[in-house]
Amino acid sequence: MSFSKVIAIDGPSGSGKSTIAKKLAETLDVLYIDTGAMFRALAYCCDQRNISLTAGPEMDEFLSSINLEYGKSSDFLIGIDGENLSLKIREHNVSKLASIISQIPKVREYLLNFQRDLASRVVCVMEGRDIGTVVFPNAFCKFFVTASVEVRSNRRLNQLQEAGESELSLEQIMIDVKKRDESDMNREVAPLKMAEDAALVDTSEMELVEVLSSLKSSVLDKAKGIGISL
Ligand code: C5P
Repeated sequence: MSFSKVIAIDGPSGSGKSTIAKKLAETLDVLYIDTGAMFRALAYCCDQRNISLTAGPEMDEFLSSINLEYGKSSDFLIGIDGENLSLKIREHNVSKLASIISQIPKVREYLLNFQRDLASRVVCVMEGRDIGTVVFPNAFCKFFVTASVEVRSNRRLNQLQEAGESELSLEQIMIDVKKRDESDMNREVAPLKMAEDAALVDTSEMELVEVLSSLKSSVLDKAKGIGISL
């Protein structure tokens, strides 16, 4: 079997996968690819342009006309048609919009091609929901990162408070987290699920440093085993 040089990190929102993926990429000095940011950027842009978040000619036209850019510099994670959307996509309401747009098959197809193209030339850490199952089923290393709903909602609350969005209660966030899990796990195309050959990482009771060091040694072992130099 030939492997892609991709370290796939999937899992539900708030599991800690973004922090882990970013730090792991930094430690290994490889490209970090946040696929959630791509769904968020498309959803945000459609909302701004009054494009309905449904399948159809309007969405097709939008996808074929935009210029999506990823990771030009540390301040520019994602942008569309020259506009830097890196901060705007983190607003709470964009999470819901991203979850809605992610159910449209053409949107998934568009981003699947974009993601495969981005990762084609380099070793990378790619995080999302379907990286190990659909986008790179032959990734050389796969992790499924999760945590309890309570822990994930508390983390989300802290993030939002840090970003100045403090009007939401923990209860409301828990409801939103559960709803988003439901729709991510039950959508028809590329639902959130653990790949059979992924390692499960439950971060509910683990410190970030512990998780990172265990993932790093696992990645280095696998890379060595199949001759990928890191
Ligand atoms: O990871 P993040 O919370 O930023 O993702 C936002 C939304 O984008 C998710 O709730 C999910 O619906 C969608 N998504 C997806 N597939 C991915 C990454 C994100 O469907 N690979």
